[in-house]
Amino acid sequence: RAGSVDRSTRDSNTTLNSDEDNINVVVRIRPLSEKERKSGEREILEFPGNGQVICHAKNPGQRPKVFSYNVVFEPLATQEDVLEYSGIKRLLEMAVEGFSCTAFCYGQTGSGKTHTLTGPPGLVESGASPLAPGQGLVIRSFVYLFQLINERPDSHFVLKASFLEIYNEKVIDLLNPGSARKPLQVRWSKESRGFYVENLFTVDCEQLDDLFAVLEEGMRNRAVGAHAMNAHSSRSHTVLSVRVRRELRADASVNCSTHGKINFVDLAGSEMTKRTHSTGKTLEEANNINRSLMVLGYCIAQLSDGKKRGHIPYRDSKLTKLLADSLSGNGVTLMIACIAPTKSNLSETINTLRYAARAKKIKSKPIVKMDARDALILSLKREVEALQAENQHL
Ligand code: ADP
Ligand code: MG
Repeated sequence: RAGSVDRSTRDSNTTLNSDEDNINVVVRIRPLSEKERKSGEREILEFPGNGQVICHAKNPGQRPKVFSYNVVFEPLATQEDVLEYSGIKRLLEMAVEGFSCTAFCYGQTGSGKTHTLTGPPGLVESGASPLAPGQGLVIRSFVYLFQLINERPDSHFVLKASFLEIYNEKVIDLLNPGSARKPLQVRWSKESRGFYVENLFTVDCEQLDDLFAVLEEGMRNRAVGAHAMNAHSSRSHTVLSVRVRRELRADASVNCSTHGKINFVDLAGSEMTKRTHSTGKTLEEANNINRSLMVLGYCIAQLSDGKKRGHIPYRDSKLTKLLADSLSGNGVTLMIACIAPTKSNLSETINTLRYAARAKKIKSKPIVKMDARDALILSLKREVEALQAENQHL
């Protein structure tokens, strides 16, 4: 065991080596807050090792619930631990190779989603060093991404970043605050066979600092937008995407370019699904606020049901349209389920742990995204090689 990171012995390999592992699920428990400590809140979670999380019931008579995962980040785990052991490094490596990858934080409001991705409030905007202790997974990933790129002189890379928010099923460009008045449309591209956001601002990022600037600018704009609306951040999803285009310099026989992507998604609070039903909002409003979150749940349930895998309703929400390629065959997904340790959060914690357990069952084989022509040439080349190999056996 590495300090406060519990990696189950069964799945001690946190990298996604197997072709089967298209989704990696980890759990992070935040520490007690100062306020919770002072008011003497009770902690009801236990971590016996082996990737297990035990939830003690409110009443002494009830049996505790036991869940198990590949990796559990206990309250003392650091931001560095999350970079090292969550499997995010593997996703970044895969994005560089041409896969579509998504890391998302799921959990109730106040469970540590934003902290995990971007650290404590104001840290990114303060211009602190990228590896300062509190810095979150996004900035640490940027550093690792550039490390990977610099290790590959055989390739030329073009990075493009965008940052958007989905609020009430409206897509707002966080790099172009004017879009709050005129939300952007999500469209299907026949050419790339994927969904995209029309007129979304994308920034060419040649250096690490360019990526930081995108993150900072988006977070600043989000804070300004959020000011006007109560509880805005618990109701909206943010998606920061970095597209990684790689052109191989060496292999002249196949002029190969790959199109990878990494999305970092800070989801709306998972309690929203129920809360909106109870506040007497109109049905449409209630639907819109949590639609993306509910549909993500349906998609995960469908994907994880290995036997009767039918129609996956990606098209039913903005968020799932944008994540479809990662969730389906093209990519790899990391789900970080965030939970609070206290008794008062028990029912939300159990909901999150169940959701995470369900997501863990998803199996499919990721594929590299290439230009159609490049993919065809490569598959023909492989066929020829296979035939040659066969001939040798004859
Ligand atoms: P969410 O985004 O899920 O609503 P936050 O990330 O804003 O929750 O976390 C709620 C509070 O708890 C914040 O003040 C945050 O800084 C703090 N917090 C969350 N996770 C941790 C952690 N692992 N270590 C220290 N503080 C944390
Ligand atoms: Mg948050």
